[in-house]
Amino acid sequence: MKLDIHNTFSTLLPADKNLENSRRQVLDACFSYVTPKKTTHPELLHVSEAMLTELGLTKEDAATNEFLHVFTGNSVFTNTHPYAMCYGGHQFGNWAGQLGDGRAINLFEVAYNNKQWAVQLKGAGETPYSRSADGLAVLRSSIREYLCSEAMHYLGVPTTRALSLSLSGDQVLRDILYNGNPAYEKGAIVCRVAPNFIRFGNFEILAARKNYATLKQLADYTIAHFYPEITSSGKEKYLAFFTEVRNKTIDMIIHWQRIGFVHGVMNTDNMSISGLTIDYGPYGWLEGYDWNWTPNTTDAQHKRYRYGNQAYIGLWNLFQLANALYPLIEEATPLQSLLEEYNSIYEQKYIAMMQQKLGLEPNNSNDNELTGRLEETLQLIETDMTIFFRKLAHVTKKDTAITAIEKINDAFYNLTEYTEEIQEHWKNWFTLYSNRLQEEKRSDAERATAMNKVNPKYVLRNYMAQLAINKANEGDYSLIDELYQLLKQPYSEQPAYQHWFAKRPEWARHKVGCSMLSCSS
Ligand code: AMP
Ligand code: MG
Repeated sequence: MKLDIHNTFSTLLPADKNLENSRRQVLDACFSYVTPKKTTHPELLHVSEAMLTELGLTKEDAATNEFLHVFTGNSVFTNTHPYAMCYGGHQFGNWAGQLGDGRAINLFEVAYNNKQWAVQLKGAGETPYSRSADGLAVLRSSIREYLCSEAMHYLGVPTTRALSLSLSGDQVLRDILYNGNPAYEKGAIVCRVAPNFIRFGNFEILAARKNYATLKQLADYTIAHFYPEITSSGKEKYLAFFTEVRNKTIDMIIHWQRIGFVHGVMNTDNMSISGLTIDYGPYGWLEGYDWNWTPNTTDAQHKRYRYGNQAYIGLWNLFQLANALYPLIEEATPLQSLLEEYNSIYEQKYIAMMQQKLGLEPNNSNDNELTGRLEETLQLIETDMTIFFRKLAHVTKKDTAITAIEKINDAFYNLTEYTEEIQEHWKNWFTLYSNRLQEEKRSDAERATAMNKVNPKYVLRNYMAQLAINKANEGDYSLIDELYQLLKQPYSEQPAYQHWFAKRPEWARHKVGCSMLSCSS
């Protein structure tokens, strides 16, 4: 196996001088060296061929013992020094102090094809940041991260990627619902890959500790490597940096809203400095379109991270990042203005995204009302988001409200709930939509093609991941591959997989793992 190792984070930023793997507060450093835990009986379950290629590896490489052992943490690749990052974060709105990579271990960085990739294992054992936990991950959450991060990539959403999914051969104890029923589960390790794994929290911890010299070092490093287009200096440079992070964060959340993805734990330690979707935990996909929905049972009471609140939380988190960067800028006004612009930029991009979903060209019309009314109408009766938007592409300029509704009513979960009053709302909305379609210059077919590029046909519905998990727990890993292949082409028709273009089955409505997930992973 030949990899072009080119470490930057660990060579350019300060390391923790303490080399013990003991849980502690790590001061004056960006990371601590650690050695991954040896596993009992590692077994490779799946490899992303696309990611192999990105790293300059081949299928033959992936079949070697070396690959198996390096990407499960059993052996350390020649001349590399694995490490865990130090970061803090605001969890559910409160400052939580030092968190850090408690069960993630960075192996090395690879330079290939003019790209830089950080390679990290999730679930490879404890680190100085493991706090009261074991540093391990279970198969169920590893399958969810592995499949979803790759699926998001193919959906066109900025995300961390995954290279491989392996069993460790060890048993891991977890209390899934935190209700005093711990049980052993299969341990697993995901090797994930991204340009970097730096979070808002990496900056927050340094600012909180008033470690401004290291804060500046980290900001300069991040800008030089991940925002090379920024060429200004002094305060201007950090303001330009914050502006870019703000814009990338907005773009990422707009993508989430477009496809119905709910992250579930948008704590600042789970916010990537490069605007990537990161840390797939109790995430979920909207089935019924519902602004109040969150899959995370840990958040069931306040629903802080519900679908309809993700944009606001993006802003809240950027506010924390602004506070952390303040010592480098020492002027609140420009930061405040950048935050104040957030809502209007978001609104503008959101409408543009909804216009695309509706197949409307952004001419002079203001589609705010059409969009707003649709959001309300979609929530009057449980309506499957993915199916609704995909079927909407069949509606033509000639359709009446009634014939249009017939084309999408498969998306309704329970037709007995489709009261006359709700029918009126739908008729009204389709009348508006039909009027608006008459202004469109594109043909029905052209519009449908464009819509099908932003409205996926296949997403990783919560129950689909759970079916793959159930089978995997019985030792059958075939569904992992089937879903992996399916989700590589989420916008294509794929008739062989038509059975996955279906509403959530009733059994999955209130099932653990499908609609109820916790942070336990
Ligand atoms: P998360 O909610 O998964 O983003 O994790 C929040 C913090 O808890 C991070 O610092 C994680 O590294 C840490 N953490 C989560 N699960 C574990 C685990 N099993 N062992 C050690 N640390 C963990
Ligand atoms: Mg996290």
